[in-house]
Amino acid sequence: MRYFSTRGQAPAVTFSEALQAGLAPDGGLYVPEKFPRHTLQEFHGLSGISEIAARFIAPFLTGDELQSRIDGICSRAFRFPIPLKDLDPKTSVLELFHGPTAAFKDVGASFLAECLQEIHKNDSRMKTVLVATSGDTGGAVAAAFHGKPQVEVVILYPRGKVSARQEQQLTAWGANIRAFAVAGDFDDCQRLVKEAFLDPGLQKRKKLISANSINIGRLLPQAVYYVAASLKKSRDGAPVDFVVPSGNLGNAVAALWAKRCGFPIGRVVLATNANRSIPDYLASGEWKPQPTVATLANAMDVGNPSNMERLRALYPTREALLKDVDSISVSDETISRIIGEGPVRYGEVWCPHTATAVHAAEKLFTQSDGKRVIVATAHPAKFETIVEPKIGRAVEVPAALAELLKRPSQKSELSPDLSALLEKI
Ligand SMILES: *Cc1c(COP(=O)(O)O)cnc(C)c1O
Repeated sequence: MRYFSTRGQAPAVTFSEALQAGLAPDGGLYVPEKFPRHTLQEFHGLSGISEIAARFIAPFLTGDELQSRIDGICSRAFRFPIPLKDLDPKTSVLELFHGPTAAFKDVGASFLAECLQEIHKNDSRMKTVLVATSGDTGGAVAAAFHGKPQVEVVILYPRGKVSARQEQQLTAWGANIRAFAVAGDFDDCQRLVKEAFLDPGLQKRKKLISANSINIGRLLPQAVYYVAASLKKSRDGAPVDFVVPSGNLGNAVAALWAKRCGFPIGRVVLATNANRSIPDYLASGEWKPQPTVATLANAMDVGNPSNMERLRALYPTREALLKDVDSISVSDETISRIIGEGPVRYGEVWCPHTATAVHAAEKLFTQSDGKRVIVATAHPAKFETIVEPKIGRAVEVPAALAELLKRPSQKSELSPDLSALLEKI
C-alpha cells in the first residue's frame, strides 16, 4: 500500500514514511492509494477493540515494515475502553474520552507513539517530538510518549490562552516531557515549530519528529472506533449514522474512510460550532475558509480545517459529498442550552463539543431514520468552568485526570522567536 499527497506533486511513500514525514513535501496531506474492502465476516468473533484495530489496519500496512508488528502495536495503543452507551432504542453515544487526557485525541496520539517506538527500535539516537498546541493535542501527545525511551517531547502552548486544567495536562508530566508557555498566540507556536523543522543547525543536532493532527499515524487509528461501533449497532448490514463534533475534520474523515472500506455506515453529520466554513461549503459549493472565531467548544475553533484536503480527495464534487455528509453549525447559546438540558433529558452531562453533536442529532434525525451514534469527544470534567454553572453542580473528575491534577506542574516561559527556542532544545 502506498500513500499519495493530496496535492499530487510529491512521490508516493510507505505508511512508515508518511507517518515520519507528517506533511508531504508539496504541502499536501497523505492519503492511502486505495481503501481495502473488508467483508464483515472477517470481524466475526473478534473480542476487543485492539483485535478489531489490528484486523482493520493491517491491509493499510501491506508491504510496510510495521505490518508484522501491528498486533503488538494495537494492543499497546488501544489500551483504554471505548464504550458505546444506549440513550434510547435508536440512539447511542460513543464515548471516546476514557484515555489518559479524557479526550478522543488520546487514541490517535497513542497509536502514533507506538508506531514510532517500533520504527526507531534499533536507533539509539535521542528523538525530539516537537508539537504546538492550542490545548488538547499537547496533552494527548505528552501522555502517549511519557516514559518512553530515547524520545523527549517539547510542547509549545500560548501562555494564558489555555484553561487551567488543560495547562495542567501539558505541564504535570515531568521526566521526558517539557512544556513551554509561549508569549504569543497559537499561530506563534505553530510558526515556531515550522521554523524549527526548517532550521539546518537543529536538523543536524537533533532527530525531530512531528506529531501534529494531520499525521496519518493519528488519523487512521481513529477509523477503528467507527468500524467497531458500526459493526456493533448494525443489524444485517443496515447503515448506522454518525454525528461527529468537528473542527479540523480529522475525526470525521476517519469515519468516512471506515465507510469507504465497506463498513455499515450511513450518513456522517459534521457538527461544528460557530466556525461555519464546512456547513457553508455544503450549502453553497464554494470553499471559503474563514477567520477563526472563539466559542465554548474551543477545541473546534477552526476557520480553515486542515483535513479539508482529505475530504475533497475523497469527494471530488459537492454532489458526491452531499450524498453521504450533512453539516450543521451550532451557536454558543444552543451549546449552553443543550448542556443545561443534558441531565434531565438524557441523564448525561455533555462537554461543549459533544453538545454540538447532540443538537445536530435532535435537529436532523427523524423517527423514520435508523440507528444513529453521537460521538462524545471529551469528558465534561475537562471543561468544568463552562459545564458546572449550566447544570448547577460539580462534575465528577475521572480517575486518570484526577491523578494528573494532583501532580506538581513544571513549565518555562518562552519568547516567540526561534533563537529563544533553539537555546532550550
Ligand atoms: C480536537 C477536538 C475536536 C475536533 O476534532 P477534529 O478531528 O479536529 O475535527 C472535537 N472535540 C474535542 C474535545 C477535541 O479535542
